[in-house]
Amino acid sequence: MRSIDHFINGSHVSASGRTHQVWNPSEGKQQAEVGLGDAALLQQAIDAAKAAQPEWAATNPQKRARVFFKFKELVEAHMDELAEMLSSEHGKVIADSRGDVQRGLDVIEFCCGIPHLLKGEYTQGAGPGIDVYSMRQPLGIGAGITPFNFPAMIPMWMFGPAIAVGNAFILKPSERDPSVPLRLAELMKEAGLPDGILNVVHGDKEMVDAILDHEDIKGVSFVGSSAIAEYIYSKGTANGKRVQAFGGAKNHGIVLPDADLDQVVNDLTGAAFGSAGERCMALPVVVPVGEDTAARLRDKLVPAIESLKVGVSTDPDAHYGPVVTSEHKEKVEGWIAKCAEEGGEIVVDGRGLTLQGTDGWFVGPTLIDHVKPDFESYKEEIFGPVLQMVRADSFDEAVRLPSDHQYGNGVAIFTRNGHAAREFAARVNVGMVGVNVPIPVPVSYHTFGGWKRSGFGDVNQHGPEGVRFWTKIKTVTQRWPDGSAQGDHKEAFVIPTMG
Ligand code: NAD
Repeated sequence: MRSIDHFINGSHVSASGRTHQVWNPSEGKQQAEVGLGDAALLQQAIDAAKAAQPEWAATNPQKRARVFFKFKELVEAHMDELAEMLSSEHGKVIADSRGDVQRGLDVIEFCCGIPHLLKGEYTQGAGPGIDVYSMRQPLGIGAGITPFNFPAMIPMWMFGPAIAVGNAFILKPSERDPSVPLRLAELMKEAGLPDGILNVVHGDKEMVDAILDHEDIKGVSFVGSSAIAEYIYSKGTANGKRVQAFGGAKNHGIVLPDADLDQVVNDLTGAAFGSAGERCMALPVVVPVGEDTAARLRDKLVPAIESLKVGVSTDPDAHYGPVVTSEHKEKVEGWIAKCAEEGGEIVVDGRGLTLQGTDGWFVGPTLIDHVKPDFESYKEEIFGPVLQMVRADSFDEAVRLPSDHQYGNGVAIFTRNGHAAREFAARVNVGMVGVNVPIPVPVSYHTFGGWKRSGFGDVNQHGPEGVRFWTKIKTVTQRWPDGSAQGDHKEAFVIPTMG
């Protein structure tokens, strides 16, 4: 059985001790195993990071940025290899895996310009003969703990800005698809990153706890499910670390009566079922406003859903592939059953789907109508190819539904009415809003983050917020006396007022 290594101080470190099975979800077969590291392994990574970080921080920002220019070139040159590797462990179709890599690369491009964002502020003459300036300095060692669903994009969102501003980094990727993060670390080394600055340690809760307990790790970025995000935030901050922890989601798509329904159906099917619904910015709830809108939408939606092709991740004609594990397939199908028990009408049922010639874990696209806000299956994240329709009577009710939901990652509104869209964007209690855009993931130089139980902590990912998260600000107040000081120095006992 192929074994997936850790990567510490620029070298592979073989797995030892406990291991975790890595599957090919399209085939339903194990393809490798990955070691589950412990505190002793983490310590090796910390030792390497500690030794390398001061010199990296002292390297001028432009030189650091050049590593990212080179890394971008290398990732582009290895795009096919990375996409195939990603699809084989995650199950998303190859075109979607390329998108996963590209959205990470977008942040790497942002990192190429990072010197601009490290410039501090300066005030000349803030007091008599006094100047004030600020500088942004790295935290030292940062760590990232990432989910299975974007094994290229999310690691790059984290290690890119953290390293570009001068930190060393410990990446703990999802144990379900660990190969791409490891390959990215190898490519960072090939791009010229000094050994010890990017280390990859695989593991589960044991490794995560070791990270949260280690006093040399000053900042932790987490993306995953909400219960774990909350745990990471509480434990990490209790241990004095800076923590940003992003959690689950249940994004709503509001459809007003004047929306272009052909466009909506096109957008909705992609956003609800793409990547088998395993995206935190998927659109698993549609809210048509008014019974007439609901009826017209459903008439168009059903044939569109029935025409979708589910296939193995290498099938170029497939719209989406398998879900990530057999347990996850069971869980998704369990939620479909639960939603029907709660009173939902299963309009298209994707349960029990098998494909000829493979034992992969497929779930067909599913549409459930007449879902109500008090259903457990509405309140919780299903994270599968399941679209729930919740009918709203009014615009106000449509604003209230996503606003009152426990999650607040993203939301979209479909309409031709600019005034309604503007009102909606201003009023809705959700972190990222799309107007006729179904998956409103902001571009890399803006910032990503959800509200409520979708995000714990107060600083978002990437863009200028990412630079803020991975640096601390130091402010210097300076004067250069001319040697003519006189008097009894009584004023030195009064708080300086710059008078
Ligand atoms: P997960 O919470 O199971 O795992 C995420 C990470 O936490 C992994 O690295 C895993 O090893 C670690 N982990 C798992 N159990 C742990 C425990 N008990 N203690 C400490 N660490 C633990 O999430 P997942 O299934 O890999 O990813 C899917 C989830 O991530 C979904 O809920 C999805 O919405 C969410 N997600 C959110 C965003 C966002 O930006 N808000 C983006 C992508 C995914």
